[in-house]
Amino acid sequence: MKISEVIHYSLSYPVKKPYANSRTYNRSRRITMVEVKTDSGLVGWGESSGTVSDADIEQFVIGKSPFDYETIYDNLGRGGANCRAACGVEIALWDLIGKALDQPVWQLLGGKHRDRVLAYASGLFKPEGEDHAKGLSEEATRYRDMGFQAVKMKMGFGPDIDEEIVSAVRASIGDDVELAVDANCAYDPARAIESGRRMMAYDLLWYEEPIVPTDVDGYAMIKQALPTCRLAGAEGLASSRAFREVIQSRAMDVIQPDISIAGGFTEMKRVAAMAQADHVRVIPHMWGGCVRLAATLHYQATMQPDYPAPLNPFPCYCEYDMTENGLRTELGTRYPMEDGWVAIPDGPGLGVEINREKLEEYTR
Ligand SMILES: [Mg+2]
Repeated sequence: MKISEVIHYSLSYPVKKPYANSRTYNRSRRITMVEVKTDSGLVGWGESSGTVSDADIEQFVIGKSPFDYETIYDNLGRGGANCRAACGVEIALWDLIGKALDQPVWQLLGGKHRDRVLAYASGLFKPEGEDHAKGLSEEATRYRDMGFQAVKMKMGFGPDIDEEIVSAVRASIGDDVELAVDANCAYDPARAIESGRRMMAYDLLWYEEPIVPTDVDGYAMIKQALPTCRLAGAEGLASSRAFREVIQSRAMDVIQPDISIAGGFTEMKRVAAMAQADHVRVIPHMWGGCVRLAATLHYQATMQPDYPAPLNPFPCYCEYDMTENGLRTELGTRYPMEDGWVAIPDGPGLGVEINREKLEEYTR
């Protein structure tokens, strides 16, 4: 089986009701999908955060076997400089290998440690043209009633607003649902500490991206000021080299590599191996389309459990995007949440079917 063609699709889904994090309104959702074709007739699907040049595809991919996934990825990724773009091809190669062997990707990765993952509802953005706290209260109540055992909300709008909206959401979901907050790098360390101190009363699961992930010293300052608060971040970092300082400094309690940014399955395994050796928890980021969600689920199935294993382990949380996003809900296979959990797909490959009409409709 030789690779005969690679097609990149730039997709855009127009959002009907815009929503904001601390920095910007989402008016459309955009992803890059990758289709890798072979002379056997099998095709593989991937999702990335950029496109690989035609010259690189010609030199490093065309005519190669999908089983050369790691050398192909390393040639395309250039040690970190081009990982974001290379993710799509890398993920599509795993999909192809799985289809060729009639095995799910988690099986190719060495087997699964779990059949399902606990989902957290990722949403609770600032709604456009609505009362912020009231809108979030209604949304959070809906997630609780759907069966989610954890939710994540956006903050980073200034300490006063943060406290107002976090207290409103906590009151809506009660004390039995876990609550994570995400500032999307809105703050400097001083403001991150001020807002964090005021949120401590609301029992946070984690405090995500208070500041930019490259400010490792800044994370240390926040940690010193908020010692019992779990700090999370690094969703935008690409390549294991970029994660090295964050992991080794123990700047964050939780790192959140994204399979379509960090560098596909190959780089997720490298990052997780480093993190585990340094006792840093990995909870993958997932913000994209159905292929990224499928790939993330296969990867999460294979993540090593804590060792030694406690009776009540920290859940291997799955970020479950609850915002309006047709690239997740219309473009292909949906992976439903049931009773708070999402089942691991059974392949072959990623096990994702793509709706080509929707692919065409949302191609820019
Ligand atoms: Mg985030």
